[in-house]
Amino acid sequence: MDLLEYQGKQLFARHGLKVSSGKAVDSVEGALAAAAEIGYPVVVKAQVLIGGRGKAGGVKLAGDEAQLREHAGRILGMDIKGHTVRTVWIEHASDIAAEYYASILLDRSAKRPLLMFSIEGGVDIEEVAERTPEKLIRHHIDPLAGLSREEAVQVAREGKADEDVVEGVADALLALYEVWLAEDATLAEINPLIVTPEREVRALDSKVSLDGNALYRHPENQGLSDAENEDPLERRAKEEGVQYVKLDGDIGILGNGAGLVMSTLDVVARAGGSPANFLDAGGGSNAETIKQAVDLILANPAVRAVLFNIFGGITRCDEVAEGLIAAFGEIKPSVPFVVRLDGTNDEAGRRLLAEAELPNVHPAKTMNEAAELVVALAAGRALQESA
Ligand code: GDP
Ligand code: MN
Repeated sequence: MDLLEYQGKQLFARHGLKVSSGKAVDSVEGALAAAAEIGYPVVVKAQVLIGGRGKAGGVKLAGDEAQLREHAGRILGMDIKGHTVRTVWIEHASDIAAEYYASILLDRSAKRPLLMFSIEGGVDIEEVAERTPEKLIRHHIDPLAGLSREEAVQVAREGKADEDVVEGVADALLALYEVWLAEDATLAEINPLIVTPEREVRALDSKVSLDGNALYRHPENQGLSDAENEDPLERRAKEEGVQYVKLDGDIGILGNGAGLVMSTLDVVARAGGSPANFLDAGGGSNAETIKQAVDLILANPAVRAVLFNIFGGITRCDEVAEGLIAAFGEIKPSVPFVVRLDGTNDEAGRRLLAEAELPNVHPAKTMNEAAELVVALAAGRALQESA
Protein backbone atom coordinates (compact mmCIF):
# COMPACT_ATOMS: atom_id res chain seq x y z
CA MET A 1 0.00 0.00 0.00
CA ASP A 2 1.66 3.18 -1.22
CA LEU A 3 1.26 6.41 0.69
CA LEU A 4 1.13 9.95 -0.58
CA GLU A 5 4.04 12.21 0.34
CA TYR A 6 2.16 14.02 3.08
CA GLN A 7 0.87 10.77 4.59
CA GLY A 8 4.41 9.41 4.68
CA LYS A 9 5.55 12.62 6.33
CA GLN A 10 2.89 12.17 9.00
CA LEU A 11 4.40 8.78 9.82
CA PHE A 12 7.88 10.33 9.80
CA ALA A 13 6.76 12.98 12.29
CA ARG A 14 5.18 10.29 14.50
CA HIS A 15 8.65 8.78 14.91
CA GLY A 16 10.60 11.97 15.41
CA LEU A 17 11.94 12.37 11.89
CA LYS A 18 12.03 16.07 11.12
CA VAL A 19 9.66 17.34 8.40
CA SER A 20 8.18 20.74 7.58
CA SER A 21 4.66 21.13 8.83
CA GLY A 22 2.02 21.84 6.24
CA LYS A 23 -1.48 21.20 5.10
CA ALA A 24 -3.17 19.02 2.48
CA VAL A 25 -5.83 20.89 0.51
CA ASP A 26 -7.94 20.26 -2.57
CA SER A 27 -8.75 23.79 -3.74
CA VAL A 28 -6.99 27.06 -4.52
CA GLU A 29 -8.93 28.76 -1.72
CA GLY A 30 -7.82 26.04 0.67
CA ALA A 31 -4.23 26.53 -0.45
CA LEU A 32 -4.43 30.30 0.18
CA ALA A 33 -5.89 29.75 3.65
CA ALA A 34 -3.17 27.19 4.46
CA ALA A 35 -0.39 29.51 3.28
CA ALA A 36 -1.79 32.40 5.31
CA GLU A 37 -1.40 30.20 8.36
CA ILE A 38 1.99 28.72 7.43
CA GLY A 39 3.61 31.91 6.14
CA TYR A 40 5.21 32.62 2.75
CA PRO A 41 7.23 31.47 0.89
CA VAL A 42 5.49 28.12 0.55
CA VAL A 43 5.96 25.16 -1.70
CA VAL A 44 2.97 23.65 -3.52
CA LYS A 45 3.33 19.91 -4.08
CA ALA A 46 1.13 17.61 -6.14
CA GLN A 47 0.06 14.57 -4.10
CA VAL A 48 0.13 11.64 -6.50
CA LEU A 49 1.57 8.14 -6.19
CA ILE A 50 4.31 8.67 -8.73
CA GLY A 51 7.83 10.05 -8.52
CA GLY A 52 9.42 12.82 -10.56
CA ARG A 53 6.72 15.34 -9.70
CA GLY A 54 9.28 18.16 -9.66
CA LYS A 55 10.35 17.53 -13.24
CA ALA A 56 6.71 17.24 -14.32
CA GLY A 57 5.90 20.70 -12.92
CA GLY A 58 4.07 19.36 -9.88
CA VAL A 59 6.31 21.06 -7.28
CA LYS A 60 6.43 24.88 -7.27
CA LEU A 61 7.61 27.60 -4.91
CA ALA A 62 5.23 30.49 -4.26
CA GLY A 63 6.50 33.72 -2.70
CA ASP A 64 3.12 35.42 -2.39
CA GLU A 65 -0.61 34.98 -2.86
CA ALA A 66 -0.61 35.71 -6.57
CA GLN A 67 2.05 33.08 -7.25
CA LEU A 68 0.30 30.57 -5.04
CA ARG A 69 -3.02 31.15 -6.81
CA GLU A 70 -1.31 30.57 -10.16
CA HIS A 71 0.64 27.45 -9.15
CA ALA A 72 -2.09 25.78 -7.08
CA GLY A 73 -4.58 26.47 -9.89
CA ARG A 74 -2.28 24.89 -12.43
CA ILE A 75 -1.22 21.87 -10.35
CA LEU A 76 -4.72 20.91 -9.12
CA GLY A 77 -6.25 18.84 -11.90
CA MET A 78 -2.88 18.39 -13.62
CA ASP A 79 -2.10 14.98 -15.08
CA ILE A 80 1.25 13.52 -13.99
CA LYS A 81 2.02 10.33 -15.90
CA GLY A 82 -1.60 9.22 -15.83
CA HIS A 83 -2.27 10.37 -12.25
CA THR A 84 -4.70 13.25 -11.80
CA VAL A 85 -3.77 15.66 -9.02
CA ARG A 86 -6.69 16.08 -6.62
CA THR A 87 -4.75 17.15 -3.53
CA VAL A 88 -1.82 19.50 -3.04
CA TRP A 89 0.38 19.73 0.01
CA ILE A 90 1.33 23.23 1.12
CA GLU A 91 4.37 23.58 3.35
CA HIS A 92 6.70 26.37 4.33
CA ALA A 93 9.50 26.49 1.75
CA SER A 94 12.88 25.33 3.00
CA ASP A 95 16.28 26.78 2.23
CA ILE A 96 18.52 24.03 1.00
CA ALA A 97 22.29 23.75 1.47
CA ALA A 98 22.54 20.09 0.41
CA GLU A 99 20.28 17.31 -0.81
CA TYR A 100 21.03 13.81 0.49
CA TYR A 101 19.24 10.50 -0.01
CA ALA A 102 18.20 7.82 2.47
CA SER A 103 16.02 4.74 2.21
CA ILE A 104 15.25 1.44 3.85
CA LEU A 105 13.68 -1.44 2.02
CA LEU A 106 13.31 -5.14 2.59
CA ASP A 107 16.08 -7.01 0.76
CA ARG A 108 14.32 -10.32 0.30
CA SER A 109 17.36 -12.19 -0.99
CA ALA A 110 19.46 -11.09 2.00
CA LYS A 111 16.45 -11.57 4.30
CA ARG A 112 17.31 -8.26 5.92
CA PRO A 113 16.35 -4.63 5.77
CA LEU A 114 18.72 -2.69 3.53
CA LEU A 115 19.64 0.85 4.51
CA MET A 116 20.92 3.06 1.72
CA PHE A 117 22.43 6.50 2.01
CA SER A 118 24.00 8.96 -0.40
CA ILE A 119 24.95 12.61 -0.39
CA GLU A 120 23.89 12.71 -4.05
CA GLY A 121 20.18 13.14 -3.36
CA GLY A 122 17.47 15.14 -5.06
CA VAL A 123 18.12 13.30 -8.30
CA ASP A 124 17.20 9.95 -9.73
CA ILE A 125 18.95 7.56 -7.33
CA GLU A 126 19.07 4.78 -9.95
CA GLU A 127 21.41 7.02 -11.91
CA VAL A 128 23.71 7.47 -8.92
CA ALA A 129 23.70 3.70 -8.36
CA GLU A 130 24.60 3.11 -11.98
CA ARG A 131 27.18 5.83 -12.64
CA THR A 132 28.84 6.21 -9.25
CA PRO A 133 27.92 3.17 -7.16
CA GLU A 134 30.61 4.08 -4.62
CA LYS A 135 28.48 7.11 -3.67
CA LEU A 136 25.54 4.94 -2.63
CA ILE A 137 26.25 3.31 0.72
CA ARG A 138 24.42 0.01 1.26
CA HIS A 139 24.18 -1.36 4.76
CA HIS A 140 22.21 -4.42 5.80
CA ILE A 141 20.57 -4.17 9.21
CA ASP A 142 20.51 -7.15 11.54
CA PRO A 143 16.79 -7.39 12.29
CA LEU A 144 17.37 -8.91 15.72
CA ALA A 145 19.96 -6.39 16.88
CA GLY A 146 18.31 -3.43 15.15
CA LEU A 147 20.19 -0.35 13.97
CA SER A 148 22.58 1.13 16.51
CA ARG A 149 23.61 4.78 16.68
CA GLU A 150 27.22 3.69 16.01
CA GLU A 151 26.14 1.98 12.81
CA ALA A 152 24.06 4.95 11.70
CA VAL A 153 26.98 7.31 12.33
CA GLN A 154 29.29 4.99 10.42
CA VAL A 155 26.94 4.93 7.43
CA ALA A 156 26.73 8.73 7.43
CA ARG A 157 30.55 9.00 7.58
CA GLU A 158 31.09 6.34 4.95
CA GLY A 159 28.72 8.27 2.68
CA LYS A 160 30.80 11.41 3.29
CA ALA A 161 28.05 13.46 4.89
CA ASP A 162 29.41 16.86 5.98
CA GLU A 163 31.10 16.26 9.35
CA ASP A 164 28.95 18.81 11.21
CA VAL A 165 25.71 17.01 10.21
CA VAL A 166 26.84 13.41 10.77
CA GLU A 167 24.89 13.24 14.04
CA GLY A 168 21.84 14.83 12.41
CA VAL A 169 21.97 12.34 9.55
CA ALA A 170 22.35 9.48 12.04
CA ASP A 171 19.25 10.74 13.90
CA ALA A 172 17.33 10.73 10.61
CA LEU A 173 18.49 7.20 9.72
CA LEU A 174 17.56 5.88 13.16
CA ALA A 175 14.12 7.49 12.94
CA LEU A 176 13.67 6.14 9.42
CA TYR A 177 14.39 2.63 10.65
CA GLU A 178 11.90 3.11 13.45
CA VAL A 179 9.28 4.16 10.89
CA TRP A 180 10.10 1.15 8.73
CA LEU A 181 9.91 -1.29 11.62
CA ALA A 182 7.10 0.10 13.76
CA GLU A 183 4.77 0.86 10.86
CA ASP A 184 5.41 -2.43 9.02
CA ALA A 185 6.68 -0.61 5.96
CA THR A 186 8.26 -2.39 3.01
CA LEU A 187 9.85 0.84 1.79
CA ALA A 188 10.66 4.12 3.51
CA GLU A 189 12.54 6.58 1.32
CA ILE A 190 13.60 10.21 1.69
CA ASN A 191 14.74 12.02 -1.45
CA PRO A 192 15.88 14.61 -0.75
CA LEU A 193 16.94 14.49 2.87
CA ILE A 194 18.03 18.11 3.08
CA VAL A 195 20.60 19.99 5.09
CA THR A 196 19.45 23.56 5.68
CA PRO A 197 21.82 26.56 5.86
CA GLU A 198 21.25 26.36 9.64
CA ARG A 199 22.61 22.80 9.36
CA GLU A 200 19.39 21.09 10.28
CA VAL A 201 18.67 17.71 8.64
CA ARG A 202 15.09 17.32 7.45
CA ALA A 203 12.99 15.09 5.16
CA LEU A 204 11.75 17.21 2.25
CA ASP A 205 9.99 14.34 0.50
CA SER A 206 8.73 10.89 1.47
CA LYS A 207 7.97 7.67 -0.28
CA VAL A 208 6.48 5.04 2.00
CA SER A 209 4.89 1.68 1.19
CA LEU A 210 3.18 -0.22 3.96
CA ASP A 211 2.70 -3.96 4.05
CA GLY A 212 -1.02 -4.36 3.38
CA ASN A 213 -1.01 -7.74 5.12
CA ALA A 214 0.10 -6.10 8.37
CA LEU A 215 -2.51 -3.35 8.29
CA TYR A 216 -4.63 -5.13 10.90
CA ARG A 217 -1.90 -4.23 13.38
CA HIS A 218 -2.29 -0.54 12.53
CA PRO A 219 -5.92 0.49 12.62
CA GLU A 220 -4.75 4.11 12.62
CA ASN A 221 -3.21 3.59 9.16
CA GLN A 222 -6.22 1.97 7.59
CA GLY A 223 -7.62 5.25 6.33
CA LEU A 224 -4.44 5.98 4.38
CA SER A 225 -5.30 3.82 1.40
CA ASP A 226 -6.53 6.32 -1.13
CA ALA A 227 -8.66 4.89 -3.91
CA GLU A 228 -8.59 8.20 -5.79
CA ASN A 229 -4.83 8.02 -6.09
CA GLU A 230 -4.38 4.38 -6.91
CA ASP A 231 -3.00 3.39 -10.26
CA PRO A 232 -5.89 4.26 -12.59
CA LEU A 233 -5.86 0.85 -14.26
CA GLU A 234 -5.83 -1.00 -10.95
CA ARG A 235 -8.68 1.14 -9.71
CA ARG A 236 -10.70 0.39 -12.83
CA ALA A 237 -9.95 -3.34 -12.46
CA LYS A 238 -11.11 -3.24 -8.85
CA GLU A 239 -14.34 -1.54 -9.88
CA GLU A 240 -14.88 -4.18 -12.56
CA GLY A 241 -14.04 -6.98 -10.13
CA VAL A 242 -11.01 -8.15 -12.13
CA GLN A 243 -7.88 -9.44 -10.38
CA TYR A 244 -5.34 -7.16 -12.02
CA VAL A 245 -1.97 -5.86 -10.87
CA LYS A 246 -0.04 -3.47 -13.07
CA LEU A 247 3.63 -4.30 -13.61
CA ASP A 248 6.45 -2.46 -15.37
CA GLY A 249 6.98 -4.55 -18.51
CA ASP A 250 5.51 -4.67 -22.00
CA ILE A 251 3.90 -8.12 -22.24
CA GLY A 252 0.23 -8.29 -21.29
CA ILE A 253 -0.70 -11.50 -19.46
CA LEU A 254 -4.02 -13.22 -18.97
CA GLY A 255 -4.53 -16.58 -17.38
CA ASN A 256 -7.19 -18.36 -15.37
CA GLY A 257 -6.28 -19.10 -11.78
CA ALA A 258 -3.80 -17.11 -9.69
CA GLY A 259 -1.25 -19.94 -9.62
CA LEU A 260 -1.25 -20.33 -13.38
CA VAL A 261 -0.90 -16.58 -13.89
CA MET A 262 2.05 -16.43 -11.49
CA SER A 263 3.75 -19.32 -13.27
CA THR A 264 3.10 -17.54 -16.56
CA LEU A 265 4.86 -14.42 -15.25
CA ASP A 266 7.83 -16.60 -14.27
CA VAL A 267 8.00 -18.39 -17.60
CA VAL A 268 7.81 -15.11 -19.52
CA ALA A 269 10.57 -13.65 -17.35
CA ARG A 270 12.69 -16.75 -17.92
CA ALA A 271 12.22 -16.38 -21.66
CA GLY A 272 13.71 -12.89 -21.32
CA GLY A 273 10.45 -10.95 -21.33
CA SER A 274 8.95 -8.49 -18.92
CA PRO A 275 5.27 -8.80 -17.95
CA ALA A 276 3.07 -5.69 -18.06
CA ASN A 277 0.49 -7.04 -15.65
CA PHE A 278 -0.93 -9.86 -13.62
CA LEU A 279 -4.49 -10.70 -14.64
CA ASP A 280 -6.46 -13.62 -13.32
CA ALA A 281 -9.60 -14.07 -15.39
CA GLY A 282 -10.85 -16.49 -12.76
CA GLY A 283 -12.49 -19.88 -12.85
CA GLY A 284 -15.63 -19.20 -14.82
CA SER A 285 -14.24 -16.94 -17.53
CA ASN A 286 -17.04 -16.38 -19.99
CA ALA A 287 -16.94 -14.37 -23.19
CA GLU A 288 -17.90 -11.14 -21.40
CA THR A 289 -15.11 -11.49 -18.82
CA ILE A 290 -12.55 -12.12 -21.55
CA LYS A 291 -13.67 -9.06 -23.49
CA GLN A 292 -13.41 -6.90 -20.39
CA ALA A 293 -9.98 -8.31 -19.57
CA VAL A 294 -8.59 -7.69 -23.07
CA ASP A 295 -9.87 -4.14 -22.86
CA LEU A 296 -8.12 -3.64 -19.54
CA ILE A 297 -4.81 -5.17 -20.66
CA LEU A 298 -4.73 -2.99 -23.78
CA ALA A 299 -5.57 0.16 -21.82
CA ASN A 300 -1.94 0.05 -20.68
CA PRO A 301 -0.06 1.80 -23.51
CA ALA A 302 3.20 -0.02 -22.67
CA VAL A 303 1.80 -3.37 -23.86
CA ARG A 304 3.47 -4.61 -27.04
CA ALA A 305 2.23 -8.19 -27.11
CA VAL A 306 -0.24 -10.27 -25.11
CA LEU A 307 -0.12 -13.82 -23.84
CA PHE A 308 -3.28 -15.77 -23.09
CA ASN A 309 -2.55 -18.84 -21.03
CA ILE A 310 -5.73 -20.81 -20.41
CA PHE A 311 -6.02 -24.15 -18.80
CA GLY A 312 -9.56 -25.31 -19.34
CA GLY A 313 -11.23 -26.82 -16.32
CA ILE A 314 -14.45 -25.18 -15.28
CA THR A 315 -13.49 -22.58 -17.85
CA ARG A 316 -14.05 -24.13 -21.23
CA CYS A 317 -11.50 -23.27 -23.89
CA ASP A 318 -14.18 -22.81 -26.55
CA GLU A 319 -15.83 -20.17 -24.39
CA VAL A 320 -12.53 -18.35 -23.97
CA ALA A 321 -11.99 -18.50 -27.72
CA GLU A 322 -15.45 -17.01 -28.28
CA GLY A 323 -14.65 -14.23 -25.84
CA LEU A 324 -11.43 -13.47 -27.62
CA ILE A 325 -13.16 -13.41 -31.01
CA ALA A 326 -15.83 -11.05 -29.66
CA ALA A 327 -13.15 -8.83 -28.09
CA PHE A 328 -11.21 -8.62 -31.36
CA GLY A 329 -14.44 -7.69 -33.18
CA GLU A 330 -14.91 -4.69 -30.90
CA ILE A 331 -11.42 -3.60 -29.96
CA LYS A 332 -9.34 -4.38 -33.07
CA PRO A 333 -6.05 -4.63 -31.17
CA SER A 334 -2.90 -3.51 -32.88
CA VAL A 335 -0.57 -5.79 -30.90
CA PRO A 336 0.01 -9.51 -31.45
CA PHE A 337 -1.67 -12.12 -29.23
CA VAL A 338 -0.24 -15.51 -28.38
CA VAL A 339 -2.87 -17.97 -27.21
CA ARG A 340 -2.27 -21.22 -25.45
CA LEU A 341 -5.43 -23.23 -24.87
CA ASP A 342 -5.22 -26.52 -23.05
CA GLY A 343 -7.74 -28.67 -21.19
CA THR A 344 -11.52 -28.81 -21.47
CA ASN A 345 -12.66 -28.33 -25.08
CA ASP A 346 -9.23 -27.11 -26.16
CA GLU A 347 -9.58 -28.59 -29.62
CA ALA A 348 -12.90 -26.85 -30.13
CA GLY A 349 -11.37 -23.63 -28.88
CA ARG A 350 -8.42 -23.83 -31.23
CA ARG A 351 -10.72 -24.68 -34.12
CA LEU A 352 -12.90 -21.64 -33.39
CA LEU A 353 -9.84 -19.42 -33.32
CA ALA A 354 -8.47 -20.87 -36.55
CA GLU A 355 -11.81 -20.42 -38.30
CA ALA A 356 -12.16 -16.84 -37.10
CA GLU A 357 -8.82 -16.02 -38.77
CA LEU A 358 -8.15 -13.21 -36.34
CA PRO A 359 -5.33 -11.02 -37.56
CA ASN A 360 -2.19 -11.29 -35.44
CA VAL A 361 -3.30 -14.15 -33.21
CA HIS A 362 -0.74 -16.92 -32.79
CA PRO A 363 -1.63 -20.25 -31.25
CA ALA A 364 0.93 -22.08 -29.11
CA LYS A 365 0.84 -25.61 -27.73
CA THR A 366 2.89 -25.36 -24.55
CA MET A 367 3.48 -22.69 -21.97
CA ASN A 368 7.20 -22.43 -22.77
CA GLU A 369 6.58 -22.18 -26.47
CA ALA A 370 3.95 -19.51 -25.84
CA ALA A 371 6.34 -17.53 -23.65
CA GLU A 372 9.16 -17.60 -26.17
CA LEU A 373 6.83 -16.59 -28.95
CA VAL A 374 5.32 -13.66 -27.06
CA VAL A 375 8.74 -12.40 -25.99
CA ALA A 376 9.91 -12.47 -29.62
CA LEU A 377 6.76 -10.68 -30.76
CA ALA A 378 7.06 -7.99 -28.10
CA ALA A 379 10.64 -7.39 -29.17
CA GLY A 380 9.47 -7.12 -32.78
CA ARG A 381 11.58 -10.08 -33.84
CA ALA A 382 10.70 -12.16 -36.88
CA LEU A 383 8.70 -15.24 -36.13
CA GLN A 384 9.36 -18.85 -36.64
CA GLU A 385 5.68 -19.65 -36.77
CA SER A 386 4.92 -22.59 -34.56
CA ALA A 387 2.03 -24.95 -33.97
P1 GDP B 1 9.72 14.65 -6.56
O1 GDP B 1 10.19 15.40 -7.78
O2 GDP B 1 8.41 13.98 -6.81
O3 GDP B 1 10.74 13.72 -6.02
O4 GDP B 1 9.39 15.79 -5.44
P2 GDP B 1 10.34 16.40 -4.29
O5 GDP B 1 9.50 16.60 -3.11
O6 GDP B 1 11.55 15.57 -4.08
O7 GDP B 1 10.74 17.81 -4.87
C1 GDP B 1 11.53 17.92 -6.02
C2 GDP B 1 12.57 18.98 -5.85
O8 GDP B 1 11.94 20.24 -5.61
C3 GDP B 1 13.49 18.77 -4.67
O9 GDP B 1 14.57 17.92 -4.98
C4 GDP B 1 13.93 20.18 -4.37
O10 GDP B 1 15.06 20.51 -5.18
C5 GDP B 1 12.76 21.03 -4.81
N1 GDP B 1 12.02 21.46 -3.61
C6 GDP B 1 11.01 20.82 -2.97
N2 GDP B 1 10.65 21.48 -1.86
C7 GDP B 1 11.43 22.57 -1.77
C8 GDP B 1 11.58 23.63 -0.81
O11 GDP B 1 10.89 23.72 0.23
N3 GDP B 1 12.53 24.57 -1.06
C9 GDP B 1 13.33 24.51 -2.16
N4 GDP B 1 14.25 25.46 -2.34
N5 GDP B 1 13.24 23.53 -3.08
C10 GDP B 1 12.32 22.56 -2.89
MN1 MN C 1 11.71 13.42 -4.28
